Amino acid sequence: MMMCWLALAALVVYLFWRFPQLRKTWYLPKRKGFIALMYHHVGILEDPQEEQYPFTMRPDMLERQILFIKANGYTPISLAELENARRAGKSSIQKPVMLTFDDGYEDNFTHLFPLLQKYNVPALIFLITKRVGTPGYMTWEQILTMQQSGLVSFGSHSCSHRRLRSLSDEEIRQEITQSKQILEEKLGRPVTAFCYPYGAGGFDKRVRPQVFEAGYTTDFSTKKGVNPWPWKGKSTIRRAFPRGGETLFDFHLQLTRGQSKL
Ligand SMILES: [Zn+2]
Repeated sequence: MMMCWLALAALVVYLFWRFPQLRKTWYLPKRKGFIALMYHHVGILEDPQEEQYPFTMRPDMLERQILFIKANGYTPISLAELENARRAGKSSIQKPVMLTFDDGYEDNFTHLFPLLQKYNVPALIFLITKRVGTPGYMTWEQILTMQQSGLVSFGSHSCSHRRLRSLSDEEIRQEITQSKQILEEKLGRPVTAFCYPYGAGGFDKRVRPQVFEAGYTTDFSTKKGVNPWPWKGKSTIRRAFPRGGETLFDFHLQLTRGQSKL
């Protein structure tokens, strides 16, 4: 009997080693709710060893993901729709999905924006105010062009992308409030969404209340998973993380389990 169990265990280990697909979240139950997708760069990196490879989605793959969302009955929603649903405490939107992009890279303007326009899909981009206009990042002009399209809203990703938990209360306050002031001045509208730098470990009980004290109403982390719909604000918004190099099967897992692998 013991030998049987050992043989079975060895077989399972072998199968997981031999077929990487098995190591994914297909065995978790599907969960209904609100999915926020987290992206960073949109562009082409050939070498999977490159540091930014997981953070870089190919434009053709992103296009296939948008088509997948539309073909499978999901509804791409804007920040305004998320906030309206929270205020109302109810929503008739079915299978809501939100596309979010961290850091404000220039490729969001050159590669992402044309796709959003082609498919009329809204997105939310989190800007690091001190990096706007520096090499590799979008300029204010590009940001305003995207805002004027009505498709893109912007949130704060702090002033300088430091790990907020390691800062003093005063430094945290500055990162959170100054970035809000600068964005509101440049964009000419209220900025209500905040995204913690270094997501999952980027906030704690000391940091999160400061975000709401500063006047934000919606906060995004990199904790993975599916959110309740409508989101009620009790905890930060979790985000699924489609990585560069992932397949459409992975994307299906992201949308139904909130993560493609554990
Ligand atoms: Zn970031």
